[in-house]
Amino acid sequence: MAADRYDLVIRGATIIDGTGAAGFRGDVAIRDDRIVKVAQDLATSAARKVIDASGLTLAPGFIEPHAHITDIASYPVPENFLRQGITTIVNSLHSLDQPYPLGPFLDGLKVAPNTVWTAGHSWQRKRIIGLDNRPPTPAELARMAQLTSEAMDDGAIGYATGLEYIPANFAAPDEVIALAGASRRPNAIYFSHLRDEGSALLAAVDEAINVGRKTGLPVHINHLKSTGIANQGAGGAVLAAIDAANDTGLQVSFDVYPYEAYSTYSTVLFPSWVLAGSPADYARRIDDPATRARLKQEMAGIYQAQTLGTPDSVQFREIAGDARFAGKTLRDWLRAHNRPETADGMIDALIELQRDGGFTGIFMAMADRDITAFIRHPRASISSDGDLIAFGKGYPHPRSYGAFPRILGHYVRERQVLTLEAAVLKMTSRPAQDLHIADRGMVKPGYFADIVIFDANRVTDHATFADPHRYSEGIAYLLVNGVLVIESGAVTGARPGRALRRVATNQ
Ligand SMILES: [Zn+2]
Repeated sequence: MAADRYDLVIRGATIIDGTGAAGFRGDVAIRDDRIVKVAQDLATSAARKVIDASGLTLAPGFIEPHAHITDIASYPVPENFLRQGITTIVNSLHSLDQPYPLGPFLDGLKVAPNTVWTAGHSWQRKRIIGLDNRPPTPAELARMAQLTSEAMDDGAIGYATGLEYIPANFAAPDEVIALAGASRRPNAIYFSHLRDEGSALLAAVDEAINVGRKTGLPVHINHLKSTGIANQGAGGAVLAAIDAANDTGLQVSFDVYPYEAYSTYSTVLFPSWVLAGSPADYARRIDDPATRARLKQEMAGIYQAQTLGTPDSVQFREIAGDARFAGKTLRDWLRAHNRPETADGMIDALIELQRDGGFTGIFMAMADRDITAFIRHPRASISSDGDLIAFGKGYPHPRSYGAFPRILGHYVRERQVLTLEAAVLKMTSRPAQDLHIADRGMVKPGYFADIVIFDANRVTDHATFADPHRYSEGIAYLLVNGVLVIESGAVTGARPGRALRRVATNQ
């Protein structure tokens, strides 16, 4: 009888189903792109293929709530993500450009993981207003709202802002509320890269929650963190604010990645006013002694709020036009240029590096106690905030290779910050539920066959700040929509991923 024929049966794994329930030994049968049976001792005679997963752990494929994958068409088999067990990646845009028009782009995508897309505020503002430090005119606001609507109707699952960055940080809260309001549809989400992740973190969390209050949208905060030597230990107050909002009936969730450093552009070390307009505007400002003095004073405070305060806190990924310092620190740069390794010397160096095009960097800034508090919170999902990586190329943050296995190895197995079941939940059903991703995130009949099979005793990250190009270890098999993208530890090259559009009706 047809109902008993399976394309694949996975036998003998410890199944962690993504709900938080205790693992159990069992078999999983797959037909086409769906899980059709979860049971003990399934007959395999009618299976086209059988995988013996004895001694291994089977879980729903991991859902990545925030990574930078706008260019995924150029990296159709993104091994750095697949080797973390990730089967679905959400491209919540923050400062990045939105593919446009989104619908045809999604139609043409043929990549290994499932992908999920958002409408992007930064991209709209650049397109309509450029880098000007001013509010939009009513006509400009209407045009931005129109771009939001287009993307939502093309399948974006929500509206994503990156208010820490130029030019988005020129937007007043009302602009964000108006545009997020234009994204309002069944199942839509408001994604926030907060306006501030350091000294004004709490106010920034309140601003994001207020968007939810004013628009009725669920709020998802990406890569929650408390940065800066002055702000260590602020995690408790932030979580209390999130709890309080949820207690009033709002939906506020977040994701977090397990590293004490973040990675971004050098612009986060500057006040926004100095970066408004063109590079010539910037050069004119820093050449004016009074303006430069004011800038330096503000930057000294920002440096404390964005880093651990030392010249070792900044590790360069790429300095514009100068390849020699990839992986080196600001202290290395000061030494190489015979500059004083003082607070003043650091700030002068940063001002000049920005004039010459700026840099991308890794910024040591977070405390373990905040990271673990965030990870443990019931509304936390795990993310990587990672990039698409060509192996060996550039100087990435290790999160791009290791975030999810680092949770399973370091935080679960070594430190017991979470049980394995709780960690899997935060990588699967939690983000699926919070981001309204349908029929994924659990091992359950009728759900899509996005499945990871890993060795719970070995799974770990290997990428470090000193040596970032190292794949994670321990992912034995990975299925996306029933198709193997990793088999016996080897990447197959298959591209079964789908662009998952927002479900347009309330379920
Ligand atoms: Zn971000």
